[in-house]
Amino acid sequence: MAEAKGRESDRLAALEQLDILDTPRDEGIDRVVRLIRQVFAIEIGIVSFIDAHRQWYKACSGLSADEVPRKDTFCKHVVASEEPLIVNDATKDPRFSQHPAVTGEDHIRFYAGVPLRTRDGHTVGTVCAIDRSPKPFADRDLQILTELAGVAMDRIELLRSAATDGLTGTLTRRAFREEADKLIKLAVRHQHELSCIVLDVDHFKRVNDTHGHAAGDEVLKAVASVCQSNLRASDVFGRLGGEEFAIMLPHVDAQGALAAAEKLRAAIAAQTIHGDFGQLAVTASFGTSPLSIKSRDSGTLLAQADAAMYLAKAAGRNRCVDWSGLDIRHHASPRQRVLKAGSIVLSDPDVRIDCTIRSLGADGAAVTVSDSAGIPSEVVLAVPGDGFEARCQVVARDRQNLELAFG
Ligand code: GH3
Ligand code: MG
Ligand code: MG
Repeated sequence: MAEAKGRESDRLAALEQLDILDTPRDEGIDRVVRLIRQVFAIEIGIVSFIDAHRQWYKACSGLSADEVPRKDTFCKHVVASEEPLIVNDATKDPRFSQHPAVTGEDHIRFYAGVPLRTRDGHTVGTVCAIDRSPKPFADRDLQILTELAGVAMDRIELLRSAATDGLTGTLTRRAFREEADKLIKLAVRHQHELSCIVLDVDHFKRVNDTHGHAAGDEVLKAVASVCQSNLRASDVFGRLGGEEFAIMLPHVDAQGALAAAEKLRAAIAAQTIHGDFGQLAVTASFGTSPLSIKSRDSGTLLAQADAAMYLAKAAGRNRCVDWSGLDIRHHASPRQRVLKAGSIVLSDPDVRIDCTIRSLGADGAAVTVSDSAGIPSEVVLAVPGDGFEARCQVVARDRQNLELAFG
């Protein structure tokens, strides 16, 4: 049991290293899932990563979801055993015959999944082929699927070295963090100010749902472009994930960062975006965090700006919140960006909800769950890998994210 826990935290550490979760779609990986459908003449192909609480689809062809709770997946067995899993007819397999994806309208019958392994041998996700009718799957098929998993992993390794994001032309998350760490070193050596801004487009899902994915892409380009035209040449701008961007501002203190964020907020809100979809307007929420003696790495700065950004969301969106100005009871000590498995424990009724801990400090944490509905304002956060348990207040929340203050 202890060994399994250790393996799982090593696995999550390897996944954190890849820095792939919630990153934008990639044509190369999309191609792998299309190939899976064609080669095996089946309906669904998936390349996925599995964190503490969910299976997130880096690419998926044939299904509309982009993530599912880990506990409900077939793929969790592949991660647990680190071996391929083939289910020719789920109705005849006692492990899956009563599964809602089998008994319900998804009507899943066939599943073949292989581990997605890092060079160090950690199973960080799966590559799978799924169909709504029972299927045979020969040894040769398994070899092909395993090769495709290798192609996907090679592509992911390659993506790590990409410096610019294909859609917006801004720095990728990895490149941004490298630049940010260089700026932090310089600021520490020369003892000058440095601040970080994180911004996330508000209700972006609605833009996609109402106007389509292409309109969403246009909005992202427009948001990136309005930010860049309002920033200094010495500022560093990057896309952290879907509709989340970040900026490093050298020689800028907490107050200056808040003013810069406010300028960007107003510019985004004032912009009308024109396209085939007609015209639309969006807003964004901002979090800022200054470099301090305690936050001397990009992970900590980003985690703090991110936590402030979630508080801006909770306070009504289209606004800016500074980490250093937050209530001393919440987030007074620095945050570290992490990827850890945890549980939200409710006392009445006695339930544990899987969560992924995204950042952790001495007096608070940011966690993600599959669905935050029904989680009360007082809970216990348990981190079994660290032997840690704390009573906490939920100080901000959205559909899937919780900001927790301990004590
Ligand atoms: P909130 O105000 O709380 O931020 O709500 P939201 O709807 O913006 O947040 P949520 O995280 O629920 O939805 C983000 C959506 O962004 C979901 C995802 O499908 C979409 N998305 C991510 N990357 C891209 C992309 O590259 N292009 C487009 N069009 N959509 C994307
Ligand atoms: Mg958003
Ligand atoms: Mg977001």
